[in-house]
Amino acid sequence: MLTYSIDIKKSLISKSKIKEVDFKDLGFGKYFADHMFVAKYKEGEWISTEILPYGDILVSPAMSALHYGQTIFEGMKAYRNVEGGIQLFRPLKNWRRMNTSAERLAMPPVPEEIFMGGLIELLKIDHQWIPSGEGESLYIRPFYIASDTFVGMRPSNEYLFIIFTCPVSAYYANPVKVKLEKNFIRATPGGVGYVKMGGNYARSMLATELAKREGYDNVIWIDSQEYRYVEECGTMNIFFVINDTIITPPTSGTILEGITRESVIELAQDLGFNVEIRRLSKEEILESYQQGKLQECFGTGTAASISPIIKIGYDENIDIQLDDPKNWKYAPQLQKTLNAIRISAIPDRFHWIFPIS
Ligand SMILES: *Cc1c(COP(=O)(O)O)cnc(C)c1O
Repeated sequence: MLTYSIDIKKSLISKSKIKEVDFKDLGFGKYFADHMFVAKYKEGEWISTEILPYGDILVSPAMSALHYGQTIFEGMKAYRNVEGGIQLFRPLKNWRRMNTSAERLAMPPVPEEIFMGGLIELLKIDHQWIPSGEGESLYIRPFYIASDTFVGMRPSNEYLFIIFTCPVSAYYANPVKVKLEKNFIRATPGGVGYVKMGGNYARSMLATELAKREGYDNVIWIDSQEYRYVEECGTMNIFFVINDTIITPPTSGTILEGITRESVIELAQDLGFNVEIRRLSKEEILESYQQGKLQECFGTGTAASISPIIKIGYDENIDIQLDDPKNWKYAPQLQKTLNAIRISAIPDRFHWIFPIS
């Protein structure tokens, strides 16, 4: 087990709020655990690390993040394993990805000791908030924002790195219906598609809302150059199964490099499935559907894990309708195996598990 030496000031609450939580109806992101971790950076130095009661933070109206969007985040989960212990899934990947995001937005890196040391201490303090029901976990939201009080346009000199957590149930209970989005574009080459930054989500909300009005849950984004190649599904990476081959597009800058995506690829290869990482056009998807070769489609992400997609609105006249996911071969097996590894119900041959206690 990795340990981190970091001095954290602690101001803990006297009475937990956990009694107020309806664990039968956790939803996603409506309850917050008792504490949060806050680290402050100022002019080249990390000046404080603290665990405080979860609560509002006071910021200046001139705060840089609010105006210019130097704001990034991560999404990860703590699981209760079959023995009752607590553990993380590939957390160092989240730390590295946060720093890849930071670099793109000209923000200083967050040291491993602060990211991991703060997280581990927070989880130890709020361990009772990690639920143990099926599909349940403690969602972890680390985020990192520019906190300068300065309206001029330049990278901030001050930053806040904060972690809070929420007990959650499974994200999408039902298979989803998505619309192939042809008007709005999520990411462009040379841009920030691979960055987990606030602006990427702001720019995708209108398209998603319009799709919802048409009865879809989300959209499939396509590329900005040829308007043909599928990239992601909402805030998930996307996979198709055509002719018994699992296909997902290469990330190459416009696609968020999902840790679930990477794990699903490794698992699928390990299970002996055919996997291709290559571009996939909407025409190829339609054609394979019409030839009866399109077997499955699913999204992957920490929040939803693996989320079956049963309907794709291809255009005004064509809906791609897939078979009931209960009859699918690949996604359910990948989901089952991945979930079993996350709670140590099966051995972790990949060394993905990071035990906390
Ligand atoms: C977070 C995210 C994903 C999934 O990444 P994971 O590491 O698997 O959680 C995929 N696409 C977008 C746009 C995301 O923000």
